[in-house]
Amino acid sequence: MIKFLDLKKLNAPYKDALIKKTTDVIESGWYIKGKEVKEFEENFSTYTGTRYTIGVGNGLDALTLILKAYKTLSKLSDNDEIIVPANTYIATILAISNNNLKPILVEPDSKTFNIDSSLIEKSITKKTKAILSVHLYGKVCDMKSISKIATKYNLLVIEDCAQAHGATFFGKKVGSLGDAGAFSFFPTKNLGALGDGGAITTDNELLANTIRTLANYGSKIKYENIYKGVNSRLDELQAGFLNIKLPHLDSENQKRSDIAKYYIKNITNTQVKLPIFDKTDVWHQFIIITKKRELFQKYLLKNGIETMIHYPIAPHNQEAYKELSSINLPITLDIHSQVVSIPSNPTLTNNEIKKIVTVINNFKASS
Ligand SMILES: *Cc1c(COP(=O)(O)O)cnc(C)c1O
Repeated sequence: MIKFLDLKKLNAPYKDALIKKTTDVIESGWYIKGKEVKEFEENFSTYTGTRYTIGVGNGLDALTLILKAYKTLSKLSDNDEIIVPANTYIATILAISNNNLKPILVEPDSKTFNIDSSLIEKSITKKTKAILSVHLYGKVCDMKSISKIATKYNLLVIEDCAQAHGATFFGKKVGSLGDAGAFSFFPTKNLGALGDGGAITTDNELLANTIRTLANYGSKIKYENIYKGVNSRLDELQAGFLNIKLPHLDSENQKRSDIAKYYIKNITNTQVKLPIFDKTDVWHQFIIITKKRELFQKYLLKNGIETMIHYPIAPHNQEAYKELSSINLPITLDIHSQVVSIPSNPTLTNNEIKKIVTVINNFKASS
C-alpha cells in the first residue's frame, strides 16, 4: 500500500538528530521561550527574508493573532470586511470570524485554485480593510495584482502561508509579500513539527511587538497585562525540531517539485485533469480534477494507492457557517466536488511514483 503520507517515513532521516535535540532540551531545564525558539525565529526570518518572526501555538493562532493585533492597533474594528478566497481550509475563515470580522468570500481561478484577483475589486466596499490571501496547495497567489488593489484601496495584505513554506514570487519568499504572513508547522505541512506549531512573519516592528505581547497573555513585563491576550507560544521542543528540519526544506520542496513534474509529463490519461507546472510552486498537494472522483479513488485504493480530498466541503457549506450558505459560488463548489489529491511527498520512491503513474494511466472512467 502506498500511503497518502507516511509521517514516520517523512521524519526518519532526522530521527537521530530529533532524539538528540529532545535530550538537549530536557537537559537544558528550559521548556518555554528558550534558546531554541529564539534561534528558530531568527532562522525563519533569515529564510523568509523578513525582519521579525514570532513563534506561536499553531497556524490558526498565527492567522488569528495577526488580525487581533491589527484590532488592538485600531487598524481593524468589529464588522470590518476581509476579502478571502472561498476555497480554503476552514482555519482561514475561522481567524476572521473569531475576531468579529466579516469574511467576504471570493471565487478562485479554476486553473490555479487560488483567489481570482480579477474578482476582488467588485467585492470591495467602504468596510473592506484587508485581503487575506491563501497560497493554496503550495502555489503562490497573484500577489502583483493583489498588492496593486491593496495600494489603490488602502487595504492590508495578509498571507496564509500554511501550505506554502518556501514558495517564491519573483524571488521573494511567501511570508514577505504582504504586511504579515501566517505559517503552520502541523506535522503534514511542508515544514512540519512533531506536534502543533505556528509562526508569524512581518517587517512591521509595532505589529511584531503587539503580536508577541498578545500571544503571551497580553503581557510584556511579567505579571503586567496591557491587553486581554491569549496563551499561544511555540514550544521549545518543537522549535528545536524545526531548527533541525528547516535547513532541509528547500531540498524536500525540490523533491516535491520533481515528482509533480514527473506526474505532469507522464500521466497521459485524458480522463483526468492535471495542474499547471510552475517551478515556484512547493506542491503541498498534487491535485487532480476528475468528474468521476469516487470511482477514481476506489480504483486507486484497489490498486494499493491512498488518496485524499482537500477539501470535501467548502467553508460556506459547513454547518458552522450557515449564515454564508446562500452565497452563490459555483466555481468553488465545482472544485470541491472534483478535486482529489494523490500521494506526492519526499518519502515516495521512484518505483512508487512510477506505479502511481501507471495505475492512473490505466484508469477508465467508464469501468
Ligand atoms: C493547516 C492550515 C491552517 C491551520 O494550521 P494549524 O496549525 O492546523 O492550526 C491554516 N490555513 C491553511 C490554508 C492550512 O492548510
